[in-house]
Amino acid sequence: MAGNGLFPFTDEHESIRQAARNFAQKEIAPVAAEFDETGEFPSKTIKKMGELGFMGIEVPEEYGGAGMDTLAYVLALEEICKVDAAHGTIMSVNNSLFCNGIMKFGTEAQKQKYVVPVASGKAIGAYSLTEPMSGSDAGTMRSRAVRQGNEYIINGRKSWVTSAPVAEYIVLFTMTDPEKKHRGITAFLINASQPGFVRGKKEPKLGIRASATSEILFEDYHCPLEDRLGEEGEGFKIAMAVLDAGRIGIASQALGIAEAAYEASLAYAKEREAFGAKIGEFQGISFKIADMKTRIEAARLLVYNAALAKERAKKTGERFTSEAAMAKLFASETAMFAAHTAVQIHGGIGYSKELPVERYFRDAKITEIYEGTSEIQRMVISRMELGLR
Ligand SMILES: Cc1cc2nc3c(=O)[nH]c(=O)nc-3n(C[C@H](O)[C@H](O)[C@H](O)COP(=O)(O)OP(=O)(O)OC[C@H]3O[C@@H](n4cnc5c(N)ncnc54)[C@H](O)[C@@H]3O)c2cc1C
Repeated sequence: MAGNGLFPFTDEHESIRQAARNFAQKEIAPVAAEFDETGEFPSKTIKKMGELGFMGIEVPEEYGGAGMDTLAYVLALEEICKVDAAHGTIMSVNNSLFCNGIMKFGTEAQKQKYVVPVASGKAIGAYSLTEPMSGSDAGTMRSRAVRQGNEYIINGRKSWVTSAPVAEYIVLFTMTDPEKKHRGITAFLINASQPGFVRGKKEPKLGIRASATSEILFEDYHCPLEDRLGEEGEGFKIAMAVLDAGRIGIASQALGIAEAAYEASLAYAKEREAFGAKIGEFQGISFKIADMKTRIEAARLLVYNAALAKERAKKTGERFTSEAAMAKLFASETAMFAAHTAVQIHGGIGYSKELPVERYFRDAKITEIYEGTSEIQRMVISRMELGLR
């Protein structure tokens, strides 16, 4: 479906898409329901995804990645999420939130130390901005880093950190100058095996249950100066730039979930009978199919367009904030609409764990929340349109 002439897909794009599709169908599909049920981290399949190069798709080969472009990344992520969004969440954090930020803002030594193991799939990375009392409004965060000579002493509690129960390395955003609010935030690279780093309770979640999420605590963690990412006070700028890229990943995740919900619904509408006819023959059902298909194709255009905007930005340095926010906003609301509609089309069996449709419904919701809620995406888009800060 991607090769509609609007986007410059190459044989390389087709081959990574096929590789991701084959892997997802052969290796993830048979275990997705079980990992969703237990909430266990799917270490084996994630390791294999690392071996296939899926954990650092845009990272150059010399830093352990696959050396491909943003379109390749979104196509692969879409295919993984079409089968299981939880695997997609783990993949997107490693690619967009961890490796991408260090490749953009890190020193050569930081790239060698942190990107190489994560992009090659040998270690798991995480990104920690949120705190119990600070989500959409990062400027109110309470954790602190205090400089002492050639190191920083970090204290505080961070919440909702995807992959934190298993991550070896974390990009952390914490306050070095609270009076300056968001301009007082600084980014650091954290090694989870160092003293002073404590993993908190794992969150019991509605969806993407195989993607482990937890709090993390810092108790006099000593972070050497060379592990500061960027300059003091640059953390908010780094966090937002990284989220621009991350939102394109979440938009592809949403697209994958929406497609899965649609394909299941289409097949069911052709097969299930009521009142002597296939349910797809009833206008009440066929119009739902039309609405799902139309919204999915519109979401696809926004997602691939945002990927191209990010690719252009590598050369021009331009921001792609608006393109990424529009893709995430529309694709996530499409995923929610498609998953909700899919349960309805399936009737009672749509509510059962015998089919993956109820999982798509639970998984779709997160795409409207993390990496900026839909309200925050609307704020980002409207402020740019209105020229407001
Ligand atoms: C499963 C999961 C995984 C996550 N993974 C990570 C991660 O890896 N790293 C990380 O740092 N964070 C992560 N998060 C946190 C996530 O990014 C935040 O939950 C999200 O940004 C919203 O913040 P909040 O929960 O504090 O909600 P709040 O900011 O308290 O918002 C509550 C409600 O108010 C609305 N709202 C807030 N401000 C405004 C406004 N100005 N105008 C209109 N409405 C507004 C919001 O849209 C929302 O509906 C994760 C969350 C979940 C659930």
